[in-house]
Amino acid sequence: MKTGITLTKQTTVACNGEPSPYGHPRIFLKLKDGEKIQCPYCSKIFVNTNEDKARK
Ligand SMILES: [Zn+2]
Repeated sequence: MKTGITLTKQTTVACNGEPSPYGHPRIFLKLKDGEKIQCPYCSKIFVNTNEDKARK
């Protein structure tokens, strides 16, 4: 399975599986600053590139 890593500065990302051939219903994933989350459908990984200011 082909997976990709998407960098984002948002804390909510939408994923519908594209551009991979493993399309799926559009879902929204929430992630905190500095964290990463993996889409349960297509295994795409989203990484939040914001620094975690709350801990500093
Ligand atoms: Zn996905």
